[in-house]
Amino acid sequence: MDSQFSATDEAFRQEVRSFLNENLSEELREAGRKKTSIWQEKNSAMAWQKLLFDKGWAAPEWPAEYGGTDWSLTQRYIFSQECARAETPGISPMGLKMCGPMLIGYGTEEQKNYYLPRILSGEHIWCQGYSEPGAGSDLASLKTFAASDGDDYIVNGTKIWTSFAQHSNMMFALVRTSTEGKVQQGISFLLIDMSTPGIKIEPIINLEGSHELNQVFFDDVRVPKTNRVGKENDGWSVAKYLLEFERFSISSIELRRLLDRTRRLANETGATGDSLANDPAFVTKLAQLEIDALAMETSEQRVLASLSAGNRPGSVSSVLNAISAETLQRADELAIEVAAYYGLAYQPEALEVGGPAPIGSTITLPMMPSYLNNRMRTIAGGSAEVQRNIVAKAILEL
Ligand SMILES: Cc1cc2nc3c(=O)[nH]c(=O)nc-3n(C[C@H](O)[C@H](O)[C@H](O)COP(=O)(O)OP(=O)(O)OC[C@H]3O[C@@H](n4cnc5c(N)ncnc54)[C@H](O)[C@@H]3O)c2cc1C
Repeated sequence: MDSQFSATDEAFRQEVRSFLNENLSEELREAGRKKTSIWQEKNSAMAWQKLLFDKGWAAPEWPAEYGGTDWSLTQRYIFSQECARAETPGISPMGLKMCGPMLIGYGTEEQKNYYLPRILSGEHIWCQGYSEPGAGSDLASLKTFAASDGDDYIVNGTKIWTSFAQHSNMMFALVRTSTEGKVQQGISFLLIDMSTPGIKIEPIINLEGSHELNQVFFDDVRVPKTNRVGKENDGWSVAKYLLEFERFSISSIELRRLLDRTRRLANETGATGDSLANDPAFVTKLAQLEIDALAMETSEQRVLASLSAGNRPGSVSSVLNAISAETLQRADELAIEVAAYYGLAYQPEALEVGGPAPIGSTITLPMMPSYLNNRMRTIAGGSAEVQRNIVAKAILEL
């Protein structure tokens, strides 16, 4: 594939590679290698974002006028490839990938001027307050209420499954501002400062033992009306726009990284003197996943091309979301097959940066936690069933 790149693109690749060689510390690379979730541990994620911000590369997808880059599609692809090769850590997606693009589309000039630079620099860390107990797939039935009080709203209610809330100083949230008419029409979109009195955060521990999720409670929380995005009772359009960005994420690089590790392990010789690479059933599954990764990559490139032309992700993000989530879960299952009994060792200390040497190897170490964490891929951001409903309605017109 590299042969298709022009001399300018190859020069850009060298620039990215030099930047990574010179700036990415061994600690950050270790954090990247040990990543087991979309959510990187906060210190590494923010340190990596700071490096990118200082270089002007924190938000390659944003228009240059808002602090993005003017990279071509190919350059963005090269950048992702080089980051994967260097095993960079993850970055918190809620600000850069979701809230930022939403504000660029729907925010007032004041909101853009205030929030976008703080999202880029990492001064503001965001979480998403959409889901509630009883309002997940059926999001429009949410009940957290924002009552008008002069220039403010007074918010009461609760949000659940709020990823990274414990590390966030800002939340974008959907609240009910009216109970009249259709449920979708009484919703508004608010930006809430998490240090406001009346907010309480309680942890929810994941299947693999990590703390990423929370329930957030609002008890008479005062939010200025200037923090509303879009018109009152018209937050549903803003929410759907943002969801298109949430549902479209580049997953093929993560998938390829996992398949590469799986292939490397499968080539090793086991205790019986044979290797999984000689097992036709295993090889068939691996080959199928390689084909699926190629198809995903091509589809992601098509969406990126459309985004570069100024379009929004659209309903196709639901196709990609469902397919990439399910493909990644199949790849996780194959990784567990090859990790075998090393996958059984529960070793959270070894997963920490600077932690003790793992039982097994650094390749097998993250495989089981990733497998467990990725069970959520077919739920978060809208379940695979809900994505299929969207595809049926919006694309197939059924
Ligand atoms: C790890 C993780 C992180 C998350 N992070 C956040 C976050 O940061 N912020 C946030 O706001 N939310 C977050 N969520 C919540 C997520 O958006 C919801 O879990 C999701 O929308 C599903 O809602 P629910 O959990 O209420 O399940 P339900 O809506 O109760 O669904 C239960 C089951 O019924 C199926 N189902 C429901 N309706 C239909 C239908 N119409 N047709 C077919 N099948 C249907 C679903 O597919 C699912 O299998 C997160 C969830 C997870 C798991």
